[in-house]
Amino acid sequence: MFTRRHAVSVLLSAPLFAGRAVAQATPPLPVMASFSILADMVRQIGGEQVAVTSLVGPDGDAHSYSPTPADARALTAARVFVVNGLGFEGWLTRLVRSSGTRAKVVTASTGVTALKAEEGHSHGHSHGHSHGHSHGAFDPHAWQDVTNARIYVKAIAAGLSEVDAARADVFARNAAAYDATLAALDAEIRAAIGAVPRAQRRLLTSHDAFRYFAKAYEVDVLAVRGVSSDSEPSARQIAALIRQIRQGKVSALFMENISDPRSIQRLAAETGARIGGKLYSDALSEAGGPAATYVEMMRHNARQIAGAMAQG
Ligand SMILES: [Zn+2]
Repeated sequence: MFTRRHAVSVLLSAPLFAGRAVAQATPPLPVMASFSILADMVRQIGGEQVAVTSLVGPDGDAHSYSPTPADARALTAARVFVVNGLGFEGWLTRLVRSSGTRAKVVTASTGVTALKAEEGHSHGHSHGHSHGHSHGAFDPHAWQDVTNARIYVKAIAAGLSEVDAARADVFARNAAAYDATLAALDAEIRAAIGAVPRAQRRLLTSHDAFRYFAKAYEVDVLAVRGVSSDSEPSARQIAALIRQIRQGKVSALFMENISDPRSIQRLAAETGARIGGKLYSDALSEAGGPAATYVEMMRHNARQIAGAMAQG
């Protein structure tokens, strides 16, 4: 008897409750990000008010990505598509066009002072470019400087608010809190790298993804490959790198999560130079890994770099 009465009262009150709940909870804003680092930024700004998916997932290489028909379909369900720009997503224009999506495309790097793709490089510039991958005029890896990430956050928050004005207050609040976290992160990285004598701040990575990091935090960076991950170095370029390592122009070699480690391992074997660990350049780690968010990624990289250079 009791259970029955209870059930009836639940039924009677249910419609009222449900009505209120629906009025309060509009479904989260569907957002697509081109790669994992941007997806995390959208999540930090949107919280539970957004449903984010990433086209290129953790440990994935967005340079050489080929969107699938399923990606195109998924993009049509998004109302906002957050991309890096600066030529990072070479496949972007074709995907947007072929999908017929009506999502607003938000370019996160808007407002960033971009480095030219081949400006002030030390590793010899006759890239083969034999893979037919067109290289942009700019180096796209702007997120490796936290000051630029703060600009990304502004651009993403503005884009989300434009599409979903009802949630603009939430986005602005979250973006402000996240910006404070990033300001503290920037100071933390400056302190970690700053503790290493300037002459020892020299590292080598697989592809040239750390030029913004190098400029912001005053480190010299050499790379086996150019700003895109798919250009193969020539024998002459490898020989030049070996010479530079032997001359002591590199304190530590680093592998990257998105790159084949073999070229770095070969250089280490050839020269006896130490491998300082693995850096996260163009993608986050899986959840639970050492770089599951942008903040964790930058902190992990800075610690690895500072630790290895300090020994060099
Ligand atoms: Zn890259």
